[in-house]
Amino acid sequence: RVFQVFLAPLGNDGGDGVLTVFHDITVLQEIQERQAEFVANASHELKTPLTAIKGFAATLLDGAIREPALATKFVTIIHDEAERMNRLVDDLLQLASLDARETGQQARLEPTDIYKVAAAVVEELSAQWRAKRLSVLLDAPARPLAVMANPDWLRQVLVNLLDNSIKYTPEGGKILVKWWQASDKAVVMVQDSGIGIPAKDLPFIFDRFYRVDRARSRRAGGTGLGLAIVKHIIETLGGKIDVVSEPDAGTTFTFTLPLAKTQ
Ligand code: ADP
Repeated sequence: RVFQVFLAPLGNDGGDGVLTVFHDITVLQEIQERQAEFVANASHELKTPLTAIKGFAATLLDGAIREPALATKFVTIIHDEAERMNRLVDDLLQLASLDARETGQQARLEPTDIYKVAAAVVEELSAQWRAKRLSVLLDAPARPLAVMANPDWLRQVLVNLLDNSIKYTPEGGKILVKWWQASDKAVVMVQDSGIGIPAKDLPFIFDRFYRVDRARSRRAGGTGLGLAIVKHIIETLGGKIDVVSEPDAGTTFTFTLPLAKTQ
């Protein structure tokens, strides 16, 4: 443990002894270390696309700009890397606002119909899953189920989970989004028949910037922050998230959320 020590002499000449105060700053120090690590990681992640953008811009200025085919290729790379930076900054801002909320204001919650949000997300991502000829199935209970949430947050959770399922499931695979009531909670499951996650990586996948395969995540346009955001949102809403996965068979994320009071 780490202590900060304060010494105060008692009496004018110090002859009455010294008051010693020990202040346990272990937790504070851990938070500071985590913050420093996060800033270092974030800077590194932003630096990577920035280096590519600078490099290709310099090559264009050096003359490649006069060769149309090459110029198109390089400008496309610059555009894609700028997109990546954009996604990264969006994710970082989202985490920062979730962190701020944790230490302060309450989230504004309202009864949120799962079907409405899930159907909108599946539609929103339809270009991506159709391009890979994936089948996406929504399995809803007979009675509509509403959770106490913020619709934008629930949308974000489902976008991040489905986006991963699409990214990490080979062509022709299956994705299932299913939900049901279990006592006073709603349980939501997002299951895919994708590449799966090795057991040794499972404990870390919700960590900020953790990726099983860096190159694959990069190629798929990942930021390594998607699941950290998902977990943060679910926990802020009073739920829990779990994952079960088998390499080459698929991955299942299951999360709970409190039911809206009207039910
Ligand atoms: P990324 O932006 O890299 O996808 P995430 O935080 O969303 O970052 O996910 C962390 C890592 O967990 C991913 O890099 C990937 O290796 C793994 N992962 C997440 N979802 C899935 C999934 N459905 N199937 C296989 N691997 C997954």
